[in-house]
This record gives sequence, C-alpha cells and structure tokens, in this order.
Amino acid sequence: MMLPRIHGRCPGALRPMMSGDGLVLRLRPRLARFTRDQVLGICDAAQRHGAGVIDITSRANLQLRGIADADWPVLLARFGDGGLLDESADIESRRNVLVTPDWMPGDDSARIATDLLERIVDLPPLPAKVGFAIDAGPAPNLLRDSADFRIERGAHGGLILRADGRPHGVPVDAGQAVEGLIALARWFVDSGGSVAGRMARHRAPLPEWARGDALPGAPGPALRTGAHPLGFVCGLPFGQVEAARLARAVLACGATALRITPWRRVLFEGVGDKVPSLLDPDVPDFDAVAAAGWRVEACTGAPFCPQASVDTRALAFRLMRLAQRGMLQAPSSAGQRVVHVSGCAKACAYPQPATINVMGHAGAFDLSWQTASPLHVGLSADAVVSHLECC
Ligand code: SF4
Repeated sequence: MMLPRIHGRCPGALRPMMSGDGLVLRLRPRLARFTRDQVLGICDAAQRHGAGVIDITSRANLQLRGIADADWPVLLARFGDGGLLDESADIESRRNVLVTPDWMPGDDSARIATDLLERIVDLPPLPAKVGFAIDAGPAPNLLRDSADFRIERGAHGGLILRADGRPHGVPVDAGQAVEGLIALARWFVDSGGSVAGRMARHRAPLPEWARGDALPGAPGPALRTGAHPLGFVCGLPFGQVEAARLARAVLACGATALRITPWRRVLFEGVGDKVPSLLDPDVPDFDAVAAAGWRVEACTGAPFCPQASVDTRALAFRLMRLAQRGMLQAPSSAGQRVVHVSGCAKACAYPQPATINVMGHAGAFDLSWQTASPLHVGLSADAVVSHLECC
C-alpha cells in the first residue's frame, strides 16, 4: 500500500498532511471550478472517508480532513477517476493558481488561466507557498489574496503583470501574459527568491522588462451573497460546511458546477435563487454581522485540532448572534471591531490582538480586551457569553 507523504504546511491530494484527527487533504480546482459530479464525489468521499466536513481555504481550495491512512489510496483512486488529480505531486504543488471566480467563458481570465495550466510544466520548482493570481476581469478583485505573480486589470484598462509586494506592474497583452508569468517565476528562482520564500519578501531588483509604472485598477465590488449573473452565491461561516448539506444543496438546486472563492463564499453555477444565501440556516449570517460593525474569527478548535481543548466555533456562533443583534459588549473602538475565539495561544485564525480575545486554555476560556492581560480566566462558554452580552 502507498503511504502518504507528509509535507510541511501545504497539503495537496497527492501530498496530504497529518493532523490530530487524521490526514488533511486539499483539492485544487481548475479555473476556480468543480463540476457538479466532482462536487458530489468530493462530498461523498468526505462523508465515507473523512470527518464529514469540507473547508474552503483562503486559496480557494477544498479541504477534507479526518482521513485514515488506509483510506488515502482509495480516495486517490476515486479522485483520479473524477479528474481531480494532477499527474504528479510536483505538478500539483506548482498548480497554485488563484483565478477570479466570476470569470466568463472566453474572457481574459478564462483564456489566461487555461493557457497557464497548459504551461504548468514550464514553471520552475517553486517554494511551497508561491502562487499565481489571474485577475483579469473588468476590475481586479484578488488584490488582497495570496499570490506572488499576478496578471490583473490595470488602472489604464489593460492588463498588467505585477510581482507581489511591488506597487506597479508592466502592461502586457493577454497573449503574452503566461509567458510573462513564467519568465517572472524563473527570474524569482534564479535571483535567489527561494530563500525568501515569497515574492513580497524578495527584495532583489526586478529585471528591466518587469519594471513598469502601471498601477492595478481600483478593486471591483465584493462578491455578495445572493443572486449573481452566473448563479447564486452562498456564504460559509468560517469557511466550513457539512459535506452532506452541500451535496443536498447541489442536488436540490440543480447546480451545474460550484465556483470556489478565497472569501468563504461559493457560487452555485447555473441556478436561480433556489439556494438559501447560507447553506446552514442554523448558523448566523456573517454579512449581517459585518453590517453590524463586527467581524468574528475562530480557528478550527476541538475536536479537529490536537492543540485545542475547547470548541471554538460553537462559541463563535453564539457571539456572532449577539453581534448581529447589537448585543455584544466591547471597549469603544473606531471602525470594524473583531472578536477572535482561539483554541490556543497560537492564534491561527487572527494572529494579532483583536478587540475581544477569547482564548482556550485547559478546557476553558480566558477573556481579554485588545492587548490587555486577561480580565477573566477559566471561563465556560456560557460565562464568556454572560460577560460579553449587553442589554
Ligand atoms: S490556534 Fe491553536 S487550537 Fe486553533 S487551530 Fe491553531 S493550533 Fe489549533
């Protein structure tokens, strides 16, 4: 039997990663899209062989977890039949391509992303986190999302090739875009970028041909939940959904495909408004929470992370409901306020002080405001809610 290769912090399907509850495996869509049959196959696999949940990652991949070592080869066979695998783990790791999810057939994003996938073998070996963004819609919308080499809509209306971390790019024609991305990736490796690990940390001067003064365009409007010209957009709080629930939704609404975004939203392609804006009506709507001036972040927590001794998301949902109703008490602060529920001190979900910090420790929670020392320690979830609820 093949044994899974454990490979650092970027799991793929061919290189899963061991976690506290078994293997974690990520599937990378092509052009941000899985077909209906692929989605149903992934949902079935998550239920039969995993923890029954699917996470959508900030790089618009789908993640399955809780997979037993012995089930991994079975999953590989299934995913291979479904056209979900690359020919090697090496190719999979290079196919780190974020595509604006609302591309239309035949537009610049679709053509450039397709060309890049066909040329993926021409890329040099790159550090694990390095990736590409194809953001060639009417306005860029991946400016804040993780990528190192970008094709995006420029302020002048044409396309630009831009190295991440540099404010300006160089104009390119759509037909030259992929050649430019490959050349920039090769320059990155040849100039020692692999030591820095990411383009934004690589301070070597760009080659003359990649230097320009073209700014990216103003960002396009955020993808809202609800009806969309391509279908219907649903939010996934904390980027997670039960696989059975997702499969039921796909079957019920007749979606032809699912487009995956890096923003905890999925687009059901080819449907009307038959899908609720949230896949799970029992969880709060994070758009409504944002409208109330709050953002709530929570890591995976127990039972999925071995470092966690508390269920972070159950408490986070309760705090989201308070926020939505305007009943969350907080120190005064300008702008959007953030609640962070963390399973331990590592603070994976929000690695900076939040307006309200709720941190798990030895089966209970510590509560603090901003950077201050904990106000209360050893609280139950009910006690946290009592402390934070205002009339
Ligand atoms: S913050 Fe701690 S408990 Fe939460 S996911 Fe990270 S390591 Fe796990």
